[in-house]
Amino acid sequence: MSDPIDFQACFDNVRIVLVNTSHPGNIGAAARAMKNMGLSKLTLVDPEDFPSPVANGRAVSAVNILEAATVTKTLEEAVAGCGLVIGTSARIRSIPWPLISPQQCAQHVADDSRQNEVALVFGREDSGLTNEELQLCHFHVNIPADEKLSSLNLAAAVMVISYEVRMELLKREAEGQLAPVAPVDEEIVEGVDWDVPKATGKQVEAFYTHLEKTMIDLNFHDPANPRLLMLRMRRLFGRIRPDQMEVSVLRGFLSHIDMLNERATRNITVEQQRQEKREANLLKGQNDSE
Ligand code: SAH
Repeated sequence: MSDPIDFQACFDNVRIVLVNTSHPGNIGAAARAMKNMGLSKLTLVDPEDFPSPVANGRAVSAVNILEAATVTKTLEEAVAGCGLVIGTSARIRSIPWPLISPQQCAQHVADDSRQNEVALVFGREDSGLTNEELQLCHFHVNIPADEKLSSLNLAAAVMVISYEVRMELLKREAEGQLAPVAPVDEEIVEGVDWDVPKATGKQVEAFYTHLEKTMIDLNFHDPANPRLLMLRMRRLFGRIRPDQMEVSVLRGFLSHIDMLNERATRNITVEQQRQEKREANLLKGQNDSE
């Protein structure tokens, strides 16, 4: 029999991320909604006014969540440790991205939160999340509100999404199982008993930086005329959601391409290249130990 599932750990692995919130009252109300639904990890990305007595007033008994909140400068930093990132969006953006319902979002969160840290990202009151921020997310979730007023108040959106997550986790706890019996979509339920944790936001960003550099070096990618290449790459790998081992294999593969390209462009042999690497490592070792 497999180990009993620690559902509390699943709740604790879910992080609510509020980006560049302008009204402290919304931060407080979001913290209250989180506590109602059993979530406790809050990250604030560049909040306009925090800490604030207004936020504390609206949080009521959830002030402890505000006190323990992490504040970061960028969304990238906020999701650096997360294996699954889901962004909320009131509208659909430039190129289509995997879009899921709040129930599907809750299923993904429940699947993943046993092994990975999960971020649920909410945008600015006036303009939501930027395209760059939305690109850091594996999925976008839309609350199908009435089209006459489809944009919810920020804290209300946090409540709806957190409620769905709670319902899904409670349902699975009652059934004593982690995976849904019949997944809503056709995907394999990867969160369960996967052998290696998902790559974190930081590891995936480092991979994209490496991929972009290699493609530029090969003249495959022209940064002066980038088109949508990196966006499409992000969408591709975001759909696959590679694990840590897979990202490390991909990085190793890119490094081999880099080396091959260097040999071809500088017209040097494998042996020369190895010798240069050894010397560079030796120098690096000396500098590090100084
Ligand atoms: N005018 C903005 C809406 C901002 S509302 C826009 O068009 O994007 C503030 C935040 O609340 C959003 O960034 C999102 O995180 C959340 N939100 C509001 N309505 C939502 C909806 N219908 N579905 C998903 N998230 C929503």
